Amino acid sequence: MAKSHNLLNYDRVAMADFFEQQGEKAYRATQVFRRLHHDSPQSTDIFCDLPTALRTKLAQTTSYPNLPLASDHVATDGVCKLLFDVGGDRIETVIIPESNRTTLCVSSQVGCALACRFCLTGKQGFSRNLSTAEIISQLRQANRLLPPGKKITNVVFMGMGEPLLNLDAVLSALKIMIDTHGYALPPRRVTVSTAGVVPAMARLATLPVALAVSLHAPTDTLRDEIMPINRKYPLDTLMAACHRHILNRSRAFITFEYVMLDGVNDSVACARALIRLLHGLRCKVNLIPFNIFPDTPYQPSPYEAIDRFRDVLMRGGVMTTVRKTRGNDILAACGQLAGSVQARTMGLGSEKPLLRA
Ligand code: SAH
Repeated sequence: MAKSHNLLNYDRVAMADFFEQQGEKAYRATQVFRRLHHDSPQSTDIFCDLPTALRTKLAQTTSYPNLPLASDHVATDGVCKLLFDVGGDRIETVIIPESNRTTLCVSSQVGCALACRFCLTGKQGFSRNLSTAEIISQLRQANRLLPPGKKITNVVFMGMGEPLLNLDAVLSALKIMIDTHGYALPPRRVTVSTAGVVPAMARLATLPVALAVSLHAPTDTLRDEIMPINRKYPLDTLMAACHRHILNRSRAFITFEYVMLDGVNDSVACARALIRLLHGLRCKVNLIPFNIFPDTPYQPSPYEAIDRFRDVLMRGGVMTTVRKTRGNDILAACGQLAGSVQARTMGLGSEKPLLRA
């Protein structure tokens, strides 16, 4: 019989439905779900503690395959880029170790349809949506690559793709990430980043995860030019959606990402316009130094321009941070992609620890 059911596609409710359809008890679903995601991720047989008949049936009809690891690259600063093979396409996942946490940057689509002018993924165009299994496997397998005792503590949807254009699969993956029987990540440590797909924002808000919005420009004229999605959902609709997101969620705030492009969006006038735009919104701004890639028309803003921009925002009462750029010697920074990777390939296809503790 064909192994038609990939169990990695199921959040816990979907898993319970599946077991019910098979005429099995619902608690078995939780048992299998825990084995798959929560317990010993190294275990190879997740059915080991089930009754023999059920075990045989599941072994014949279901699967939970790993994504083949096509390559991995470790940057001088310890950032590790994983390239997974997803049915012939390649997606990237980045592990970012820090002293007090380990963040995973996951992809939600193969390529991206939004064509933001400063983004290499956007330049490459859209191929397809990732399934829930392909999204959650990035976390499942990254955990296995870490040294024993280490786990991913934070997830950001800032790899390839626009998560809100693949919302069904992303929502299921988010549920598995924050499920206490799954990866049990605190919801505030799971961040979904969107370029501003306004109609999908309300559905995302049904989960208590953190929201980041890629703003990058304070006026429609400029945002139209660098982010084509702005022509569909201009700033007034996007900001209204942001205000709705905050409303009724006492602890919520929004992180606005703002990539610093030399001479494009980094002037003092832009900073002042940004202060006006964000007025009354519980938020912070994260300034991102532009990560350069071949054939881009843009240059990164000089450090002085970034500092000046931050100072103007802070004086205007807007909490502002500057993102540390990491992993750029292997093109692992957001918006950069494989294809012209110069770094050494470690050739570790196995599940050995990649990163130093
Ligand atoms: N589609 C989503 C998530 C993917 S990109 C979004 O747009 O939010 C994650 C972040 O990296 C976004 O803020 C994106 O605008 C930014 N980014 C894209 N290209 C970049 C580049 N070359 N340098 C720096 N940041 C970039």
